[in-house]
Amino acid sequence: MTLIKIKRNSIKRNPNAGRTDYLIAGKEEHTSNPDGSESWHRDVQHVRSLFPEPKWLFEYQNNRVTCNNCGKTFGWKRLESDYLSDFGSSSICPYCKEWDCCEIEFEDIKEVLRENSRRV
Ligand SMILES: [Zn+2]
Repeated sequence: MTLIKIKRNSIKRNPNAGRTDYLIAGKEEHTSNPDGSESWHRDVQHVRSLFPEPKWLFEYQNNRVTCNNCGKTFGWKRLESDYLSDFGSSSICPYCKEWDCCEIEFEDIKEVLRENSRRV
């Protein structure tokens, strides 16, 4: 079992916490007009989400895991997932394609916050 830890310095409050709709700015496009002027255009997408935005944003460390089948070691972010069927796997080995090739557990953000609040 590998515990994937949360990067402590990546934790930040989500400015959009609790919101279910927000705007996402697309890529800015620059056009040079024939008359010599320039114009900028940016697509803005209105996104509605079924789930409210989480309170915290954070990243996981890229811990290395070892495949139980072929023995290769790689960063867990390279694990592949397949949820096309009801019995999906989120830990498919990128080398030998073995399903559930290793056991990983993600650290719980609530635990980390509790630990941080004890420290202060
Ligand atoms: Zn493998």
